[in-house]
Amino acid sequence: MLCLGIESTAHTFGASVVDGKGKVLSNEKAVFTTEEGEGGMIPGEVAKHHRQHKDEVIKKALERSGKAMKDIGLISFSNAPGLAPSLIVGMETAKELAKKNSIPVIGVNHCIAHLEIGNLVTESKDPVLLYASGVNTQVIAYEGGKYRIFGETLDIGVGNFLDSFARHCGLGFPGGPKLEKLAAESKMKKERKIIELPYVVKGTDVSFGGLLTNLKQKFDSKKYAMEDLAYSMQETVFAMLIEVSERAMAHTGKKELLLGGGVACNKRLQEMAKIMCKERDAEYFVPENQFLVDNAAMIAWLGILEHKAGIKSYADKLDIKPYERTDDVIVKWR
Ligand code: AMP
Ligand code: MG
Repeated sequence: MLCLGIESTAHTFGASVVDGKGKVLSNEKAVFTTEEGEGGMIPGEVAKHHRQHKDEVIKKALERSGKAMKDIGLISFSNAPGLAPSLIVGMETAKELAKKNSIPVIGVNHCIAHLEIGNLVTESKDPVLLYASGVNTQVIAYEGGKYRIFGETLDIGVGNFLDSFARHCGLGFPGGPKLEKLAAESKMKKERKIIELPYVVKGTDVSFGGLLTNLKQKFDSKKYAMEDLAYSMQETVFAMLIEVSERAMAHTGKKELLLGGGVACNKRLQEMAKIMCKERDAEYFVPENQFLVDNAAMIAWLGILEHKAGIKSYADKLDIKPYERTDDVIVKWR
């Protein structure tokens, strides 16, 4: 069976064709970005972007897979969690296609999809997932029939934190990759400075709000080189993320760490994760970048898993769930 996945929780509109065994035949997307300056993700604008690009993205996904709509046996879309205006575009598109072609349609949770695609494309089986993305920052693991959130951000997601700081410094959106490049430049400098920053870990939770204010003040004071600020910021923030991931591994007794989310594309975060795993004799897994960032392949794959587990859904009963939590979902497919 072939599944067409549709992703639209935030900045990315994605479409992908995946087969019943988990072979990804195509994985296409259009991403809302803004260049230099202050502009961030304005929900209405993002939804407009998705409406403009949805047809071409779906067409490309079908073309690249070498399949046609008539070959598709299931449509899966991300109905939770995310920005309501964006989620609506994905849902309307999925329902319309399903109705027109008389195919079943299913709505799946985006955060759980990050974990399941990791299990599909790496050797991980029962990992602790460090899910570090724009809006979401969670440490997730399976326990007692659900994917539980062992730790999370108490305020903003780590990606939003990076993007807000970058935007404040006039670097544009998305800011994570630009800050990574600057941090690497600092590391090459002989006279590099590590700047002390607030380190906020509470149990297995993290918080970035105070750190963001502190960094903005430091930038405005013009006393620090931008690349040193970027470097020190990365060292601090990633250490916080790795500390809570390790604590969750210790509590659950799990021996695998899996990375997910766009921020996990960062090479320094990957390096720290790898070192932590080595030190505690655990296994470390990271999918390639196309499966770390928001993507529709993971939505198609989770749709297939749920469908195979016999979970039925009816188009007229399906709705978006902007605030659904990872542990609201009963996992019937494991
Ligand atoms: P996602 O919401 O999972 O697609 O991830 C998007 C977030 O990942 C944005 O906040 C980006 O700034 C961030 N991001 C992407 N690449 C990197 C990178 N190399 N280093 C840090 N953050 C990144
Ligand atoms: Mg995501």
